[in-house]
Amino acid sequence: MPISDGFARKLLPVLPDVVAAYGTPFHIYDAQGIIETYRGMVDAFRGEPYRQYFAVKALPNPVILSLLHREGSGLDCASPIELEMAARVGATGDEVVFTSNNTRLIEYRAALEAGALITFDDRSFLGKADVLPETVAFRASPNGLAAGSSLMGDPTGSKFGVPLDELPDAYREARRRGVTRFGIHGMTCANELDVDRAIRAAVDVVELGAHVAEAAGVDVEYVNVGGGLGIPYRPEDKPLSFTAYADAIVAARRRCFPRRAPRILMECGRFVTGPHGVLVTRVVNRCRKGREIVGVDASMSALMRPAMYGAYHHVSLPFARGRERSRFDVVGSLCENMDKFAIDRMLPDPREGDIALVHDTGAHGHAMGFTYNGRLRPAELMMTPGGDVVEIRRAETVDDYLATARRQPEPVLSAPAGLPDHEHEGRDQ
Ligand SMILES: *Cc1c(COP(=O)(O)O)cnc(C)c1O
Repeated sequence: MPISDGFARKLLPVLPDVVAAYGTPFHIYDAQGIIETYRGMVDAFRGEPYRQYFAVKALPNPVILSLLHREGSGLDCASPIELEMAARVGATGDEVVFTSNNTRLIEYRAALEAGALITFDDRSFLGKADVLPETVAFRASPNGLAAGSSLMGDPTGSKFGVPLDELPDAYREARRRGVTRFGIHGMTCANELDVDRAIRAAVDVVELGAHVAEAAGVDVEYVNVGGGLGIPYRPEDKPLSFTAYADAIVAARRRCFPRRAPRILMECGRFVTGPHGVLVTRVVNRCRKGREIVGVDASMSALMRPAMYGAYHHVSLPFARGRERSRFDVVGSLCENMDKFAIDRMLPDPREGDIALVHDTGAHGHAMGFTYNGRLRPAELMMTPGGDVVEIRRAETVDDYLATARRQPEPVLSAPAGLPDHEHEGRDQ
């Protein structure tokens, strides 16, 4: 959906100058919008015990993480590098959750050392870990829970979480191993825009928490409902009512935990930053090849969601109003036919040099970027609440691209001495 009025009012008047001075492409994020969305989430819980942990993977830029952390947001990490980034912006202890899967012991130890709240994705970990954290949460398998959105795929094929019928036993086992404090984690939606389905998914986890507490005789101190709240990518989509969502969760918590209410934790990424970013590109090519093609100077290496999931991202030409509109494919330069930001999209007669915006790139945009074909990842800029435009990540250069490549081959293993030549040959056949 087009960027917010507030962002547009600040960005559009200065955009031609920024583009002229800085060049394209780049992502630019609206700090004010991100802060307001985060504050709105907290306000919706009206002082009830609640904490939102921003999913670092959605927008892993230190300046943005720092901005959110200063507002009181926790950070949700799933890898040692994300843990390191959280540490570097000053998030410590229970300001960090570690919700990983297919986790190696060394990664788990990093989370333990950081004092993070750790979610165990499978039981086998109890057997592997020599030291367990004071607080343990298990992630519940989505298979068997009522909600579940199509984007998560078929829950019976899910690789995530502990099967529901094994959950009480997993908690008992953790308690036997000396764990004294418990939480529960469950996430069954992805980009869910339907508030009823999102509520169903969260309430499932609250109910499951109460069931597990009863069945295993443990005190569940927090219920982590994960991320997965959707944003309106299409102009006709309606935003999800976060207030209705929060109210339903609070009501379910009262109903299921009449005595002691567990804290509610969330790990939203997309919902917080997704709408507050835009990819700024310029039209570099117009041609006709059976279809009307508009080539821009960004490629799917800067935003792979349209190519990877067929995801809709709104495209606009903010300075081309009044031109006749017709249908175009908006494409990048990768040697891959899927490298298209939009297919058959109504646009006002694009011309070379026009500024084109690809909207809603504030989450899972730059973060999913890559460098195939030497189409390197672009810069990230931010508009501050005061209206300044600042660089928060420069564009990659050829030196970045080659930074990990050896100029000369580096020995890894020397061939055993005296190996006759024909054996070398034989090995390769
Ligand atoms: C990806 C992910 C999130 C964040 O998802 P969003 O769609 O950005 O809200 C949160 N928690 C876990 C475990 C995830 O895998």
